[in-house]
Amino acid sequence: MTNAWLKYNEAQRQEIMDFSKGYIDFLSYGKTERLCVKRIVEMAEKAGYKNIEDVDTLQPQDRIYAIHMHKSVVLMQVGDAPMEQGLNILGAHIDSPRLDLKQHPLYEDSNIAYLDTHYYGGIKKYQWVAIPLALYGVVVKKDGTSIDIAIGDKPEDPVFVISDLLPHLAANQMSKKATELITGENLNVTFGSIPLKDEEKEAAKQNTLKILMDTYGIEEEDFISAEIEVVPAGPARDCGLDRSLVLGYGHDDRICAYTSLMAQLEAGPVNKTAVCLLVDKEEIGSVGATGMQSQFFENFVAEVLHMQGNDSYVALKRTLQHSKVLSSDVCAAHDPNYGEVSSPNNNMPVFAGGLCLNKYTGARGKSGCNDASAEYVAYLRNIMDNAQVTWQTGELGKVDEGGGGTIAYILGNYGMDVIDCGIPLHNMHAPFELASKVDIYEARKGYAAFLQGE
Ligand code: MN
Ligand code: MN
Repeated sequence: MTNAWLKYNEAQRQEIMDFSKGYIDFLSYGKTERLCVKRIVEMAEKAGYKNIEDVDTLQPQDRIYAIHMHKSVVLMQVGDAPMEQGLNILGAHIDSPRLDLKQHPLYEDSNIAYLDTHYYGGIKKYQWVAIPLALYGVVVKKDGTSIDIAIGDKPEDPVFVISDLLPHLAANQMSKKATELITGENLNVTFGSIPLKDEEKEAAKQNTLKILMDTYGIEEEDFISAEIEVVPAGPARDCGLDRSLVLGYGHDDRICAYTSLMAQLEAGPVNKTAVCLLVDKEEIGSVGATGMQSQFFENFVAEVLHMQGNDSYVALKRTLQHSKVLSSDVCAAHDPNYGEVSSPNNNMPVFAGGLCLNKYTGARGKSGCNDASAEYVAYLRNIMDNAQVTWQTGELGKVDEGGGGTIAYILGNYGMDVIDCGIPLHNMHAPFELASKVDIYEARKGYAAFLQGE
């Protein structure tokens, strides 16, 4: 079995550790797609990227970015070759499974103020009880003022929690199927319990409202126009005695977003135009204005062509169809604790096996997958081998075991070459997911090599 660590000496291993520090910092900060966009733009501007709205003309190697609704972002470094020859695109997503507050979240029961939630993405609900939680998001007032909320990650902050049943009274609960153990409707966050003085009705709730008004100037109705996400509290951390792994919330897919971003920011001059596309809503089907299915990216490419004096619809279509994509999303690493679901005969990715190329994902008979062409896989094999990237292939578990999808098929709709290509995880979609530092390092290297492709 390949182990990417083996090819690195002590100094190189230190470099891998150092690179992961930057990622751990990014992941600890980027608890929501909005925060990821904020940090990505800061990093991009430091690397000389300019907002497309502030740019009139474009020269080869110019660096621009565009943001959509604070939740998706695209970065582009213009190549020497005409755009119509196609783009080299790194695509990843920055939304992660979580609990969203409902629009009327606040209520009181049995002297406790609660927040009612609606989960987002594919979670195992039982994993979200009895762990410390943080609240992140925005509240937008009627006058358009936007108030940032971030509670639970600073050392002096309180945290939140969803209660679980004590084992002593859980005989009935424990005999249920895991899907019914904790219901979506029962994911209610304990928010406060001191009653507001001289208040008789829902006094604990009234007190939390008073604190919200005093601290943020928001009132109960403002929750209606808010996006507040309940996420695991605490930073991403080194894992393992040898610190070889990273345990953190939201690896899926901020781990591929970060490595793609770093490859994009660190790119030297490129022949083909290099693009890093970081989108929202993948976890719920890539729908909506900020998901991959929206026309945001196509519109952006049209704007860029327009800035180059090219308003031809055919040129836009050619640019897209001639493009190549790494749909950079995480994949399921073989987990010896659950080996029974793994695809046999070396068809599962492993930790330290490097960047994983998934020719197809999908479910059952490859349903819903983007099946990359043999020609494209051969092209990538050559690129990865020439750049001495440790890489592996993989699929999502045993045939008939389950399945899943990514943004790959959506970009495939343009007629582009697309392949799923990402970092293997344990605990995918759990509050804390696990990845190998050397795979993170190999991914950045592979993505960088891809951007230099012909
Ligand atoms: Mn994903
Ligand atoms: Mn996912």
